[in-house]
Amino acid sequence: MAKVKKKVKVIKIDTDKCNGCRSCEVICSAFHASDKYSIVNPARARIRLVREPLNDVYLPVYAGEYTGAECMGRDKYTVDGKEYEECAFCRASCPSRDVFKEPDSGLPLKCDMCEEDPPLDEPLCVKWCLSDALTYEEREEEVEEEEVLEEMDTGLKSLVDKYGLDNLVDSMARMLKKD
Ligand code: SF4
Ligand code: SF4
Repeated sequence: MAKVKKKVKVIKIDTDKCNGCRSCEVICSAFHASDKYSIVNPARARIRLVREPLNDVYLPVYAGEYTGAECMGRDKYTVDGKEYEECAFCRASCPSRDVFKEPDSGLPLKCDMCEEDPPLDEPLCVKWCLSDALTYEEREEEVEEEEVLEEMDTGLKSLVDKYGLDNLVDSMARMLKKD
């Protein structure tokens, strides 16, 4: 199988610089509103703050993959003497908790790195984080073509799960007509 280039997007998180302002949640939810910037609701954001001011805990966490079943146990981290709540670092949209779910429909939310056409210079949560707790990097990696195809399969499957195959096919047909 041939090697292909893959762009890897990374948001680096410096928890020491996060002050818990929640601007990242605000802009993410506004950007992803169905009429862009029409609504601000952090519950719809794809980044959420674990925020415990009394314990000086401010931890931005990005929404990752959906999971249909919760873990058999729980993780509890202590870092630099700070104890984090159970599941604090977990990125999953999981049945055991309310974060990373669309509040009205319950559908899972996942960070899409603010994919736009034309592309943005950097994700909006990074741009709006005035404390520089979030920084953005891009790099290229050489991977097997098979890996890229597998990623496409996974992405398509999640769209089918979310919207149904018929709706997806209709949507692609509309896109092809526009081109
Ligand atoms: S990168 Fe974009 S989609 Fe992801 S959390 Fe930040 S603002 Fe939201
Ligand atoms: S915008 Fe930056 S400083 Fe504010 S809560 Fe988000 S990560 Fe923390």
